[in-house]
Amino acid sequence: MPELPEVETVKAGLAPVTEGQIIARADVNRPDLRWPFPPDMAARLQGRRIDRLRRRSKYILADLDSGETLLIHLGMSGRMLISGHTVGEFHHPHPTPAKHDHVVLHMANSARITFNDARRFGAMDLMATAEQEDHWLLRDLGPEPLGNTFNEAYLIDRLQGRNTPIKTALLDQRIVAGLGNIYVCEVLFRAGIDPRRKAGQISAKRVAMLVPLIRDVLSEAIEAGGSSLRDYRQADGELGYFQHVFKAYDKADAPCVTPGCEKTIQRIVQSGRSTFFCPQCQR
Ligand SMILES: [Zn+2]
Repeated sequence: MPELPEVETVKAGLAPVTEGQIIARADVNRPDLRWPFPPDMAARLQGRRIDRLRRRSKYILADLDSGETLLIHLGMSGRMLISGHTVGEFHHPHPTPAKHDHVVLHMANSARITFNDARRFGAMDLMATAEQEDHWLLRDLGPEPLGNTFNEAYLIDRLQGRNTPIKTALLDQRIVAGLGNIYVCEVLFRAGIDPRRKAGQISAKRVAMLVPLIRDVLSEAIEAGGSSLRDYRQADGELGYFQHVFKAYDKADAPCVTPGCEKTIQRIVQSGRSTFFCPQCQR
C-alpha cells in the first residue's frame, strides 16, 4: 500500500510530464473507483492545463487552469504509468491497454498517464481549487509531518492526556497527516518506544524525540524513491515502487538489529493493523 514517500515519488515522477502541459483527452473507463467519479470528469479535464502538482497527505493534487483541482488517491493497489515520454535515457512506449486501466490522460506533449487499479480502492475527484480545504477528504487532516507546523510543541500538546496507544495516535490523520503503518513502526523502533504505551503517558522529552525521527524516516524513504526515479528503468514506466530496508516492519521473528540485543522482532495486532517491535529495545 503506497504511503507518503511512495506518493511523493509518484508526484515527482509525474511532474516533468504534466506540469505546464495540456490534457488533450481523458478516457474515463468506468463510473467509479472507491467512490463515484465527479460528474463529467472527462469533459472537465479535456483541454485543461495542469499548472502545478502538489501532495497533501497521501493525495496528489493537480491544479488545473480551470480553477479546479484534480485529486488522485492511489488507494491500496493504484498504479501510475507514464508512457510515450523519454525520461533520461529511458523511453517507455505506450502499453497495450490493460484490464484495470480505469483513467488515461492523453497529454498534448504525447505522454500518456495511465491510472491502473486492480482493487479499486483508489479515487479521483475534482474540486474548486479555492475550496480545497473544505473537501471532505482534506478538511480534517492534521499538519504535514515534513511541514513547519508539525513540531515538538505541537505533538506534545496533541498527545497530552491521550489514552490510546502511541502507535494508534500517530496513525490518527487528524494529529499528523500521511503517516501510515509501515513508517510508524519504524519510527517507534528507532525511538525505542513500545507501540502499546499510552500516548499521554510518554514523557514530553521522548515525544519531542519523535518529531525528528518521523522526519528522518520519511525523508530517507523519499530519497530512496528519488533514486528509483533517477534509475528509471522499469519496463512499463511504473512510478513509485522501490525497495526499502526496514528495521522492524514486516520482520516478525527476525533477530533485532540493535547491537547487543538478542531478542527477535514480535508481531502483534493493534486496531486491526500489524505492529512490529522489539520487546527488549522498545519500552
Ligand atoms: Zn532489540
